Amino acid sequence: MGHVIGIDLGTTYSCVAGLEAGRPVVIPNLEGLPTTPSVVSFTAAGERLIGTLAMRQAVTNPANTFYAVKRLIGQKFRSPQVQEALGRLPYGLMEAPNGDVAVALGDKTLSPPEVSSMVLAYLKECAEAYYGEPVTEAIITVPAHFNDAQRQATKDAATIAGLTVQRVINEPTAASLAFGLGAKKNGLVAVYDLGGGTFDITILEISDGVFNVLATNGDSYLGGEDFDNRIVEWLVESYRAETGADLAADTLALQRVKEAAEKAKRELSFTSETEINLPFISSDRSVSKHIRKTLSRLAFEAMTADLVERTVPRIEQALADAKVAADRIDSVILIGGQTRMPLVKERVTKFFGRDPEEKVDPDQSVAMGAAIQSGVLDGQVRDLVLLLDVTPFALGIETENDGYETVIERNTTVPVRKVKAFTTVEHNQRRVRLHVLQGEGFLASMNKSLAVFELVGIEPAPAGVPQIDVAFEITADGTAQVSAKDKETGLEQRIEVRPSTGLSAAEVEELRKRQSGRERAKPGAHA
Ligand code: AMP
Repeated sequence: MGHVIGIDLGTTYSCVAGLEAGRPVVIPNLEGLPTTPSVVSFTAAGERLIGTLAMRQAVTNPANTFYAVKRLIGQKFRSPQVQEALGRLPYGLMEAPNGDVAVALGDKTLSPPEVSSMVLAYLKECAEAYYGEPVTEAIITVPAHFNDAQRQATKDAATIAGLTVQRVINEPTAASLAFGLGAKKNGLVAVYDLGGGTFDITILEISDGVFNVLATNGDSYLGGEDFDNRIVEWLVESYRAETGADLAADTLALQRVKEAAEKAKRELSFTSETEINLPFISSDRSVSKHIRKTLSRLAFEAMTADLVERTVPRIEQALADAKVAADRIDSVILIGGQTRMPLVKERVTKFFGRDPEEKVDPDQSVAMGAAIQSGVLDGQVRDLVLLLDVTPFALGIETENDGYETVIERNTTVPVRKVKAFTTVEHNQRRVRLHVLQGEGFLASMNKSLAVFELVGIEPAPAGVPQIDVAFEITADGTAQVSAKDKETGLEQRIEVRPSTGLSAAEVEELRKRQSGRERAKPGAHA
């Protein structure tokens, strides 16, 4: 088999790694850099740009430059998260015919997996340039708190990019593999992952090469971008107070403010004060206006302390689910670029009563861990025996009157399979409908709908006579599967599946063909 790559598909940056002599190595992108902005841009001439080149388009071509698409993947257009993003993103969002969110490109739309596939195809190309041969297999990471739809959509993105996904693993778990392999340490580990768009906390136990995740918790809608937005809001508000003009109504100006805010935020991780300088940010009645503001670390911390605090109950819940007290944790690992913020480090240190590990690279350890997992699967890495991860959400079914019955509890080790017996309630009933959901809400409507599974072609019989065993499974990738068997005959029961979100298999295949056709047509082009 050829090289298998590990990919960390981040909200803001992505990274790809491979294994060399059983050790993970980060593969540089075509510009020689270890990480690539997860940005795709389409120029007026129809050219597709990925990474740094695409990011440079953000100010001049904001409507066609797509960033932070990971926050949209696997989402419905009408979800509160997408509705909130609508007002903030400089590019357009639309509702796809199946209710999913799509991004607008001129008079066309692109699904989030399609956009992400372009970043993945670029990373694949970087790996091919590095190895000098085709690469088709990958391990891909996702936030531990991604639900089934988000995981499935990420897998679809990889398939469209021409990659076969050997395994989907959780980002914090991947980071712990990189840490555990390097440190060869046994004990309880907490991985605190605050990236560009998501927060995860994972508690795991490392014991002689067995990585056993005990519990995971998090917030898919809390990340570095929220910190940037606080600075943006402050700048927009103070500009309005000083000049009466609304920068938020000017896409170009807003994009410049956003970039300056992110830069200021990064600087404040290393200095106690920074200056934000935006000349000619707007002109009003031919009078040009500028932004010149000083922001201190203290003021920035006051603006964002509540965001950092929002992570604390999640850590407490993860520890409670793992049945571990904070002072029993042996090592704390910080990953995700936002953990470079001193306030984040201080809060985590205070919570656990110990300093985080120094030797973990917050940007590269996830991709490196994914590469290690490829070596675990094919036997190249022998120090690690087993990786046991958990499902972040309960899996259950809808019952009468919007009721919800849990079938698999959250934080159950995966893969897991639970069988439940079903029967009919009416004479000669030919179909049984199962609405499968994910979440902890006590009403069905409070949870994330995955799909409606309909057991069809049941032989006519009196009510209660047919006995159908339905198996609910969560795979090692964290995705859900449902299958059914007639108890009497042992025959596979036919099921019609209507997924609530996502592309169909035919759509994925069509997009994959289009993508590979494009690669063949443009051998030198990015993706
Ligand atoms: P990731 O998803 O891990 O690539 O994390 C990216 C996030 O980390 C973005 O929101 C960045 O703005 C943020 N970030 C990167 N470097 C720093 C830094 N030095 N201080 C604060 N945040 C940072």
